[in-house]
Amino acid sequence: MRDGLDLLVLGAHPDDAEVHVGGLLALAADRGLAAAILDLTAGDLGTRGTPETRRAEAQAAARILGVQRIILDFPDGRFAEDEAFRVRLMAEFRRLRPKVLILPAPDDRHPDHRRAHRLGREAAYYAGLRNYPCPGEPWRPEALAWVGGEQPGAPDLLVDVSAVWERRMAAFDAFGSQFEQDPSQPPTRIAHPAFRRGVLGRAMHWGSLRMCDWAEALWCERPVPPALLRLLAALERLD
Ligand SMILES: [Zn+2]
Repeated sequence: MRDGLDLLVLGAHPDDAEVHVGGLLALAADRGLAAAILDLTAGDLGTRGTPETRRAEAQAAARILGVQRIILDFPDGRFAEDEAFRVRLMAEFRRLRPKVLILPAPDDRHPDHRRAHRLGREAAYYAGLRNYPCPGEPWRPEALAWVGGEQPGAPDLLVDVSAVWERRMAAFDAFGSQFEQDPSQPPTRIAHPAFRRGVLGRAMHWGSLRMCDWAEALWCERPVPPALLRLLAALERLD
């Protein structure tokens, strides 16, 4: 990837990106930006669905959003914050060259999400060190941001995603094995109707703060990195 990505969303599992920032990704695709999803695992520990069905659903969701998806096949639940996993992720960052990297929530209830946040953040930094032994040319994203956990505080940034909302939820619903109401399958937290309502409710609440129908939220370091402001301006065409 010679020119690099404008936006990369890192998830621990297929569907993490679509739970939080599907709208942002769909908007990026519509604006002609280079955007992709990088899943650390294929979700092979999931209660429902096989890695094969999850992989097929994940690629279908990415096609709906109009972005590229890469699945790294780290072992679900068992990837570690160690040198081997960090270097594999660094090599991917060096290959994809994202200007803006969106990470999982640092304080999410799922330990994989918290660990993926820390691993992604460290890999993004070290990928920029010229002498670090890792394949590829040095690259460090210009800006990091992250999604919220289930009980997030006030967001740092809100993006109006009303224009792509139906497509955003179609990508979410493409994960039938995870979110569908199917009584023949074991009950899970994310298949409960309350989980989907939570996704809708948060986007509606954030939309009410932006005076739009639907919004997605991001958190970031302060001061807000200029590359992140440039991305949001391009997404919302605020010129
Ligand atoms: Zn997840």
